[in-house]
Amino acid sequence: MELEGLHHVTAITADAPANVEFYAGLLGLRMVKKTVNFDAPDVYHLYFGDEVGTPGSILTFFEFPGAAPGRTGAGMVHEIEWRVAGEEALAFWAERLGAAGVRSEAAGPLMGFADPEGLQHTLMTTTVADAPLRPAHPDIPPEHALQGFEGVRAYVREPQKSEPLLHALGFKAGPEGRWDASGPRRHGHLHLDAPPDELAGPPVQGAGTVHHIAWSVADDEELTAFRSRAAQAGARPTPIIDRQYFHSVYFREPNGVLFELASRDIGFDVDEPVESLGTQLKLPAQHEPLRATLEQNLTPLPDPR
Ligand code: ZN
Repeated sequence: MELEGLHHVTAITADAPANVEFYAGLLGLRMVKKTVNFDAPDVYHLYFGDEVGTPGSILTFFEFPGAAPGRTGAGMVHEIEWRVAGEEALAFWAERLGAAGVRSEAAGPLMGFADPEGLQHTLMTTTVADAPLRPAHPDIPPEHALQGFEGVRAYVREPQKSEPLLHALGFKAGPEGRWDASGPRRHGHLHLDAPPDELAGPPVQGAGTVHHIAWSVADDEELTAFRSRAAQAGARPTPIIDRQYFHSVYFREPNGVLFELASRDIGFDVDEPVESLGTQLKLPAQHEPLRATLEQNLTPLPDPR
């Protein structure tokens, strides 16, 4: 039983329409689900990914309209790494981002850029044999499309404090603060980086920052087993929570990064067909009575596809 890399990454946006333009329009991801934050149903929870939202490709956003910009620091993920095929794909993205006025910085097999709210991304030439999880945007040749997550980088003050929990979850220590969560089908990793100095101020969870990262498990049986491993290593996991499209357990790792374990056994086609994923507001049964109000109050979203 192993974590199969990342399941999804969830961040915060203050501006859902601009967020959709950036991720579905410019980066070419498919919006695979338009729903609300199940714990605060007056705001969107938007899911982007490959054509079906395969775990390992899913980037999600809570919209808090008008939220102040966040500031990354200790206990937060500060960068999301994506796989691309190779140098030609990097060149394609430098050009495409540049044409949209997004500055990118290349360094060998890596290219960094930020979304309009400052969320940092890195594209990197893939070195693993995992299936590429590619969305199909009409303006993006499939050979250049994003292929899913490589990993994430987090700022932690005392990396050694995280080690027992990471070991308990089956992460393997690599060079330079890298921890691998690799299963037979997918690989993923977490980099533990020293935090920046806080002269600019303490970390703030806000627009353009990552809220949590979810690691990929098969089903409830694995969730239960990983949950007890986490608890034995000193974490305080939630019970298994039904997130409609997967089941989840949440806990903070010892440096404060919010971890989730999410199951792969349900998927986004559970409440709408694959052909029309993401086109309509989907609500879990407990929030269905709010539909009329929500449809009136939620910001209308563009469809850049
Ligand atoms: Zn999540």
